Amino acid sequence: MNRRGYITIAILVLAAATAVALVLVLHRPSSAPGGRSSAKYVIALDAGHGGKDPGGVVGDLLEKNVNLAIVKRVQAQMESDPKMRPYVTRTVDVYIPLEERIRRAEEAKASIYLTIHVNSFDLPEVVGMETWVDSTRKDADPSWVLASMVLESISAATGGRNRGVRSQELYLQRTKMPAIAVEVGYITNPNERALLADPVYQDKIALGILNGLHKFIAYLEEEQAPVGPASSSAAKATSTSKKP
Ligand SMILES: [Zn+2]
Repeated sequence: MNRRGYITIAILVLAAATAVALVLVLHRPSSAPGGRSSAKYVIALDAGHGGKDPGGVVGDLLEKNVNLAIVKRVQAQMESDPKMRPYVTRTVDVYIPLEERIRRAEEAKASIYLTIHVNSFDLPEVVGMETWVDSTRKDADPSWVLASMVLESISAATGGRNRGVRSQELYLQRTKMPAIAVEVGYITNPNERALLADPVYQDKIALGILNGLHKFIAYLEEEQAPVGPASSSAAKATSTSKKP
């Protein structure tokens, strides 16, 4: 072998060594514990309606699709969150009975349940956002606080009109965990309908929901300092959080 041959071999050996070193560095177990054990709150995100049940419909905009788009955006924003882990009851356009949605959320060990909806009304001028609590929930149920924190946050993030926390009997009474319905806007109002179909606006709603959940978790941890995420014990509600 001539000198050129030795140099070629030397270069090849060096390249191989570099490659091995790179592989070792890249595959080194991260010093940050990937599976940190600090428990996260599982947040059940339910896109209202689906499949044979479109929810509100105006023109070619279907409530079920808007609900799912928003849920997917909340899920995406929550994926890297240190405090929360999303659980989504439906990821596609499928009909799921209401009791089954609750069952799945409980099976997933969810601590908080949010069902996302778009509102409809006869008068096109009605606009804005509302959150709903099942009316059989006691005053001390943290759902009232959750409803007011999420509503204030989505209104702040979007500039949408805050129409207040409302209540009526809802299927959400089938679970004990804090649970609310979020009505993010009116599909029957032309301006709001255009916003609801806009991915940029959907992202703002998602951010508002996330902000509200952060506030609620901080509230829970303040109220129930020694108790972990899995707790379902009641916290005190503020008297101003409940509006008819
Ligand atoms: Zn709905």
